Amino acid sequence: MKKLILILFAVITLICLVVAVRTVLHVPEPEHSGIKASGGEIRKVNANDIATHLSEAIQFPTISNQDSALFQADVFDAFIQWVLKTYPKSAQRMQLEILGGYSLLFKWQGSRADLKPVLLTAHYDVVPVIPGSEELWDHSPFGGVIADDIVWGRGALDDKSAVISMLEASELLISEGFEPSRTIYFSFGHDEELGGRQGAASVTRHLSSQGVQLLWSLDEGSFVTQNIMAGISDPVATINVAEKGSVTLQIVAKAEGGHSSMPPRNNAIGVLAEAITKLQDNPVPGGLEGLSAEMLDQLSRYMPFTERMIFANLWLFGGILESTLSESQVTNAMLRTTTAPTMLSGSVKVNVLPIEAIATVNFRLHPRDSIDDLQAYIEYIVAHPQIEVRRPGDNGIAASAVSDWRSEGFQVISRSLRSVYGDIAVAPGLMVAGSDSRHYTKVADNAFRFNPILVGPSDLAGFHGTNEKIGIENLVKATQVYALIIENSQQGSQ
Ligand SMILES: [Zn+2]
Repeated sequence: MKKLILILFAVITLICLVVAVRTVLHVPEPEHSGIKASGGEIRKVNANDIATHLSEAIQFPTISNQDSALFQADVFDAFIQWVLKTYPKSAQRMQLEILGGYSLLFKWQGSRADLKPVLLTAHYDVVPVIPGSEELWDHSPFGGVIADDIVWGRGALDDKSAVISMLEASELLISEGFEPSRTIYFSFGHDEELGGRQGAASVTRHLSSQGVQLLWSLDEGSFVTQNIMAGISDPVATINVAEKGSVTLQIVAKAEGGHSSMPPRNNAIGVLAEAITKLQDNPVPGGLEGLSAEMLDQLSRYMPFTERMIFANLWLFGGILESTLSESQVTNAMLRTTTAPTMLSGSVKVNVLPIEAIATVNFRLHPRDSIDDLQAYIEYIVAHPQIEVRRPGDNGIAASAVSDWRSEGFQVISRSLRSVYGDIAVAPGLMVAGSDSRHYTKVADNAFRFNPILVGPSDLAGFHGTNEKIGIENLVKATQVYALIIENSQQGSQ
């Protein structure tokens, strides 16, 4: 008995020791070698000029409306003319193609044809302001007001600030006499908010027809965030390396119709309700592997001891952690394909039994799941003689490929970012919304989605919402980061 207690004690001590050692070693990794550190110094930029330029850009209401009849071609044309006038050096030094009607593709020819080009991209269309909500804005959404070191208006965050910062960076580098060896493209889309079917799609087709294969592309996506990631109070950056897909399925329950005065025990709506409950009780399997695991592994290295202990010892705490992460809407969406029933329909009259009851369910696909695999899983979960699963119009966009976060492009972005923001945590992330990158991935070895601006919890409401705004300090930093990214993109031998 005494021996047994001794063995038990030894085992517990050993486990505690392993947990402690792993926790102590779970600290930020030294950077992967292969590319020399940024080398570029942080440039002095003129904050007032950048703010004024963004303010002017916001005053063009380049709105993407769902109803194409509302498209204002003259506003988009005027914006393009404004770009050429405001950034004369870029307009003169680079070749410009207008594609898909109003999207701009600038080519900054490099001297070495053996190096694969890179692409920096952003979009200048914006979402409309909800009619009647203008009153809720502190400053008019298309006024471009600058007050208290902040630029206000639609597009300040999404995504005119990126367009402006990229152009400021190119203008700055050209005036310094910088000549690229690796060709650099900039594209500025005009219909990203409608899926980029004209803009980014045309740019992609154009590049492909020219035989261009990009080493990497950098588009909008995640940010440097502060006080958003639980457990870390310092700024952290997630550079999105993939985006989720989307598919909508209909769960259809069939039954005999008839008069509601003599109903069967369970009609179509009852059968459908059971199916929805099954969907809710059986989320699409997910897990802590691949991209999600890497992201949490990197970020947790910056967390306090207790949190670090959990992430450093997934062999022991993995199960508990996964179920905790699945409880939160935000982290659950990172771990798996999500299930969201959004629409319901049944009978057309109060006293008529439905012959079909339909639930429309929107799924956001994790990169590990294909559309066909998902449909097979859903059919298996809701299986019932009266249930059918339909995919209306064969809709669906698969999740993107996962770009390599050990690759040169990721390192270039990460190093440039750290030169400006200091030694912050940088990890790969998964984009739960869509971007123009779904087009660009067709011509890029790797596609990254990230804006080098600092975003806090209070900024999040501004995206597509009310009181969208950006601090001038953020515009300065974004310009500095993009300038370094361009400079550092020249390294490498591919
Ligand atoms: Zn956007």
